[in-house]
Parts: sequence; structure tokens; C-alpha cells
Amino acid sequence: MEKYDYLCRKLAYATNMNYYSTNHQAPVADLRKAVVKGLAEDRGLYMPEEIHHLPKAFFDDFSKMRFQDIAYNVASAFFGEDVDLDGLQNLVYDTLSFDCPIVKVKENIYSLELFHGPTLAFKDVGARFMARLLQYYIREERRGMSDDFSTEGAQEHENKLVNVLVATSGDTGSAVANGFLGVEGIHVYVLYPKGKVSPIQECQFTTLGQNITAVEVDGVFDDCQRLVKSAFMDSELNEHMMLTSANSINVARFLPQAFYYFNAVARLKALGMVDAPVICVPSGNFGNICAALFGHQMGLPVKRFIAANNANDVFYNYLQTGTYNPQPSIQTLANAMDVGDPSNFARIIDLYSEGGKLSPEETHQRITSLISGATYSDEEIKETMRQCYKETGYILDPHGACGYRALEEQLKDGETGIFCETAHPAKFKEKVDDILGIDVEIPERLANFMKGEKQSVPMSADFKAFKAFLMEQ
Ligand SMILES: *Cc1c(COP(=O)(O)O)cnc(C)c1O
Repeated sequence: MEKYDYLCRKLAYATNMNYYSTNHQAPVADLRKAVVKGLAEDRGLYMPEEIHHLPKAFFDDFSKMRFQDIAYNVASAFFGEDVDLDGLQNLVYDTLSFDCPIVKVKENIYSLELFHGPTLAFKDVGARFMARLLQYYIREERRGMSDDFSTEGAQEHENKLVNVLVATSGDTGSAVANGFLGVEGIHVYVLYPKGKVSPIQECQFTTLGQNITAVEVDGVFDDCQRLVKSAFMDSELNEHMMLTSANSINVARFLPQAFYYFNAVARLKALGMVDAPVICVPSGNFGNICAALFGHQMGLPVKRFIAANNANDVFYNYLQTGTYNPQPSIQTLANAMDVGDPSNFARIIDLYSEGGKLSPEETHQRITSLISGATYSDEEIKETMRQCYKETGYILDPHGACGYRALEEQLKDGETGIFCETAHPAKFKEKVDDILGIDVEIPERLANFMKGEKQSVPMSADFKAFKAFLMEQ
């Protein structure tokens, strides 16, 4: 590691990074505020004021570097002004306790397997990083308190937990719960709709215990989300306890996803590929592809991007027409991508309009010259899974299938493509078994969740009851 450390040291800047809101109506925030608040006061999404280009020396060397070291360098460009570098290194190494390898599926097409983490989906990376960054700030604050205040004051503060509330329809809850599991100073409440998440998903956040409480809401996902939002707005509750969200729009959740794109391109280079690859991301809220676009802005050699969608085609239509027209979400086989109004669309517009300076037409032109779209029906997803399995033996999950198909359709001669396999097919075992006529093996770490004992707090969809429950904590 020491050998490549100099890149980070050089990147550490004297002044802190500011984060502005995509709505431009809120004061800028420092990283700590952006992470703790998640959303700006004007309901906009935080964006870093600067995106640092990584030095040429880094790109010369990165194919020889390990994933963790690549990630540390990228992290120092994002957070090097705000988190001390040793702390940042620990944070990154601890986050990436698993690999994100690229696997050749067929000639010129590689799968970037993002399912080797604890909950077998890519959200593990962002959730784990965010948990550790929050912990870093809690520790720093406590250290500050014990210096400045009497031991009594410090003691009182010591007992004050940060409480993370998260509403989930399945995957987010498991990634957040596992990312924060055992992180001292933080308690997580996962709200999920009773009977509406798959048994595999449910056991990933109800069997953990420790600092994770699963709240089983008698309602639908929207009820869970409403309870969380009401809690954030309730002043009595906020006086009683410190509340924060672990939403996917949080900068500490989406930016670290850039790590594995740098690693993927480095691994291709190590295999002797010299040309910049095409990167294809199965997208829902567009956080994952947004991280890749940030990487591109930092100098990562990528020829172009493809945003692959299921039947939810709002972004696809934007690319075709220049008009963004949000829609109610449509239920599909690739349900983690069932989003009709992707939250990170605002970030993409802000990035390519240079913070709103360029006209909508110019912005659209810039975006379409770099990103193309694709949209697939459930029937096409199934067909792709079958065809890929037959031809290559590779088992795609329904989300990854959208990415694979878009590359197959859009890759030109001489191009190499990487698509994200965003979840392990065993997470959707019933569907995948049924579509492919096979018996997908369940990885041990997934099977282990299923052995645990389910523990949850039953809750009505009424805010009064939820508030009373939190007030007792
Ligand atoms: C969340 C998720 C997606 C969509 O990612 P975004 O960052 O919201 O675009 C795709 N696939 C799987 C398996 C997911 O869990």
C-alpha cells in the first residue's frame, strides 16, 4: 500500500469541500451536515462544489493496484479535505471487506459482479461506507465533547445515540441494516410493509438483533415512508432523540459507488485492454450510474454509458425527447428498478448543465452524447436470462439482465462493455428458478440469514403509535 500512498497525500486540500443543493435555494453544507441531513433544506440533493480530477500518475498505476487502494485514492479525491487520511483509509478498507470482480461472460462483455457483499447486492458498498462515516463523526464529536466539557457532560453525550430511520420495500433495508450492524453509537429502525417483502429479504433485516430494530408496519411501503417523513418533521420527537436517514440520495451512500467502476476499468487494463470500455448500469433511482458519471468527470476512461431500464422508461423518454415526464412506477420482474421519478435525475442534470448554467437544450445534447438508454419488458428480461444462460452458462438476475441485453444490442465492433450485475440471482430465487428451469444455489451467507430467528416490532400505520414507540426508546 505505502507505494501508492503519495497520490492521496497530494490530493489533500487545505480547505473543506462544500456541498450545494441541486435546487440552489439552500445554504452550502459541509460534508458532515450533508451526511447527517441527507437532503438540503430546499429539498434538493447535495452536490460537491468541485470534482477533483485524479492525477495521470494514478491512472498510469491503477491497473497494478489492489481494489482497496484504488478506492482509497478515489475516496481521498471526494473526502480528502474533510476526513483525515488515516481515518479515511480505515473507513475504505473496512467498507470493502469483499471484492467487486469483473467476470467475462462472452466476447467483449464483462459482468461487474456487485453481489459479493453481506446482503448480495451493490447497495452494500454505499451503506457500509455511510455507516462508517457517520461513526467517524460520532467519535470525533465525542472526543471533542470530552475535551470541552466536564466529565458529566461527556457522559451524558456518550449515551446519546444517533437513530437512523429507513423505510424499505426490500433491498435498501437489508443493505442499511447490515451496513450499520454493530456500529457503535448508532441505532437503526427499519420500517417495512408486513407481508410485502420476500422471505429472503425479510430475514436479512429481522434476524440481526444488536443495534437493528425491524418495525413491521401494517400497511404498504408508502405508509412506511410516510411514518419516517412524519418522524423527521415532529419537533417533540427530534428533541427527544437524534434522527437521521440513510436514504440513497445521501452523498455518503452514492459517491462511494464510484470505487468499483475505477477498479473495473483497472482490471480490464490489467487484462491488456487499452480502449476505454462502455459501462452499462441497470438503473432505478440512478444513484449507481450517477457515481459512475462522477468517476468519468474525475478522469476515469469510459467511452460512453448506457442506462438500462425495465418498463419504467422515464429516463429513456427524456433521452429521446428532451422532456422529463415523471410517471407512477410500474411493477416489474426487476423490482428494485421500479422507479417512475428517479431521485438522482436532478444530479445528472446539475452535473451536465454545470450547476444550471447551460440551457436545457445544451444540457440534453451533452447528456445524449455520453449516455444512451434502453427499456425492456418483463418478457424481454426473461428471454434475455434464458438466452444468456443457454449461450454462456452465466446466470443473470432480472436487473443484470437489462444491463446485459443493452450491451448486446448497443455494443459496436471493437468496443468492450461492462454491465453491473447488481444483485445475486439467488436473491430472486423463485423467479430465476422458474424462468431458467434450474435450482439456483443459495450462497452460504444468504442461507445463514434464513437460519436466524425473526424479531420485529408490530406497528400500525398510524403515526401516533409510531411516535409513542420512539418516545419510549
Ligand atoms: C437499487 C437497485 C438497482 C437500482 O439502482 P439505482 O442506484 O437506484 O439506479 C438495481 N438493481 C438492484 C438489484 C438494486 O437493488
